[in-house]
Amino acid sequence: MVGKIIKGIAGFYYIHVPEKGIYECKARGVFRNKKIKPLIGDNVEIDILENEDMKGNILEILPRKNSLIRPTVANIDQVVIVFAVENPKPNFHLLDKFLIMAERENISVVICFNKVDTVSDEDLDDIKSIYKDTGYDVLLTSATKDIGISPLREILYDKTTVFAGPSGVGKSSILNLIQSVEMLETGEVSEKIKRGKHTTRHATLLAFDKDSYVVDTPGFSSLYIDEIEKDDLKNYFIEFKKYEDNCKFYGCNHISEPDCAVKHALENGEISKLRYESYKMLYDELKDIRRW
Ligand code: GDP
Ligand code: ZN
Repeated sequence: MVGKIIKGIAGFYYIHVPEKGIYECKARGVFRNKKIKPLIGDNVEIDILENEDMKGNILEILPRKNSLIRPTVANIDQVVIVFAVENPKPNFHLLDKFLIMAERENISVVICFNKVDTVSDEDLDDIKSIYKDTGYDVLLTSATKDIGISPLREILYDKTTVFAGPSGVGKSSILNLIQSVEMLETGEVSEKIKRGKHTTRHATLLAFDKDSYVVDTPGFSSLYIDEIEKDDLKNYFIEFKKYEDNCKFYGCNHISEPDCAVKHALENGEISKLRYESYKMLYDELKDIRRW
């Protein structure tokens, strides 16, 4: 039988098999001698123990599509990055950093702005306009008013999604709305391992619908962008691309070069000021790193 590892605690792996439930498994025998360690998100072949309720052994890890180091998760399809429009105010710089990281790992991203019930339509338009030329999908949600949750659910369907964002933005509230159906189905084990104080340090996969999973990650501590060369940074700001050919210098970094088309576009309001500021801040950070 094939299932997906949704959690690991103290040598036990919890394997979700759609429509059957969650099996508590150990990694045994032949498999244990191999170098490869099971990760959350791995699809595994399991052997069910007879006369034991929902217990088994992992026999084999099926080939991985990809794996992230932090959070440690395999077979990711996409990242939904959640910020609140207010309380806490979005940190666009952090968001842009995150976009770059996901891009570098070739993982597609959906941006979700939650708590839309707390701001005016004008404020929402402003936020939407920042990302309008970036090619990223932007969802506007309210967990308390149940706005935008079903489009989000559709995006998650049949995929494994990392659900990330700073604390307080409403991730748990959204996940609770999305998950409610599955909780009925998987019963006791899932109660035992669902989000709780003891699980906050490790990633967990939350299963819902038939074959949909979200990874709940504790915080943002995992952001690294220092492996990017500063001269490559501009390539991660997709909306700069259509102006770049008109910069005077080939390979222009749009910082202090003369006749820079990107900076012209910025002055004309065609490129978001916030995005450009993010770019500059990141560029400076990368420059400082390289000095050593
Ligand atoms: P997390 O830390 O990202 O998981 O955030 P929580 O889900 O714990 O939410 C933090 C706080 O924001 C709680 O008090 C929620 O009730 C509140 N909250 C979550 N979503 C919304 C929303 O859409 N609108 C408003 N007004 N408050 C929200
Ligand atoms: Zn330029």
